[in-house]
Amino acid sequence: MNKIPPFDLSEQFKLIGEAINAAALDVLASGKYIGGPWVEQFEAKFAAYIGTTHCIGCNSGTDALYLALRALGIGTGDEVITTPFTFVATAEVISAVGATPVFVDIDPVTFNLDLNAVEAAITDRTRAVIPVHLFGMPVDMTRLMAIAQAHNLYVVEDCAQSTGAEWQGQRVGSIGHVGCFSYYPTKNLGACGDGGAITTNDEAIRDRLRRLRDHGRKGAYYYEELGVNSRLDAVQAAILQVKLPYLDQWNQQRQAIAARYQAWLSPLPGLTLPQAIAGGQSVWNQYTVRVTEQSPEPAGALRDTLRTQLQERGVISMVYYPLSLHLQPAYQALGYQPGQLPVAERACREVLSLPMFPELTTEQQEQVVYSLKDCLA
Ligand SMILES: *Cc1c(COP(=O)(O)O)cnc(C)c1O
Repeated sequence: MNKIPPFDLSEQFKLIGEAINAAALDVLASGKYIGGPWVEQFEAKFAAYIGTTHCIGCNSGTDALYLALRALGIGTGDEVITTPFTFVATAEVISAVGATPVFVDIDPVTFNLDLNAVEAAITDRTRAVIPVHLFGMPVDMTRLMAIAQAHNLYVVEDCAQSTGAEWQGQRVGSIGHVGCFSYYPTKNLGACGDGGAITTNDEAIRDRLRRLRDHGRKGAYYYEELGVNSRLDAVQAAILQVKLPYLDQWNQQRQAIAARYQAWLSPLPGLTLPQAIAGGQSVWNQYTVRVTEQSPEPAGALRDTLRTQLQERGVISMVYYPLSLHLQPAYQALGYQPGQLPVAERACREVLSLPMFPELTTEQQEQVVYSLKDCLA
């Protein structure tokens, strides 16, 4: 029995490792390790790929979100609406700039923000919304932008899991006021270390972001405001330039794998498969099913049992995310109660992400599906 990991970065390195080594060695030999031509070239290429006029590289997806909020002037006293069913970074940055995260419930089908709930949560203090295109699936950006425009709000897209995804033919990250990307190794476009970027069409935001990522510096050793140290490494920028031309192909491989899962797993009683919404093209950073809860089983028990049984058959699945952010101890002070955002809480008990990476072979996928069917029989 072969073990099937949730993702496997070594297969990709076998394919393009030589080019990656050469690119990294070029940078090392140049002696220009921070900033410089590799960073600028990558920023230009990534902006062109996403469909914006500007891209500002930085140290991580988390920093991209943090810098974006800073550049938009969001801080103390402001409210930012977002989803509680996401990686902690999305909300953490709202707190980091001194603003208050306002968590609203999610849509049960897409796991993305429920836009009715977003509308209902807007107050005089709301300054921005952070939609997360979770697992690679785009949010309905047409409706969200209409809501934002009506209430004069900024939209900061969290595209960490959705590099290359499209909403009605436009790449995510080009529709909101800013798009925030992560190049963490397991994202659709991953570096060989940390990295991130912000995309925008707004020149003033671009200029402020360039300053903020470099201590707020304006000219040599002159600071009108303070920033942070968050630059994209030249080595990572060179590696990302090697990988970017492959991204569409890798995303298509993920789409083919998702289509096979969809065909092979339906219908399976007890499992709910992910569904695309009209207008959205997912890039499947994760393929996440629901293991439908049946009371009187204890919360999450069915999903956890299935996960263990799969593991016994060599199939490693993941739970993104086991505890909704509004119920995290770190957010206790905000005063949310269990039951307050029931769709997100239920998702935390039911979700299971199956192995998904471009190089997953048909044989491996068959083993995942046979194992699942065997466990559920
Ligand atoms: C990965 C991720 C981030 C953070 O990106 P890092 O590069 O790891 O800092 C933010 N939001 C979401 C939804 C993510 O998945």
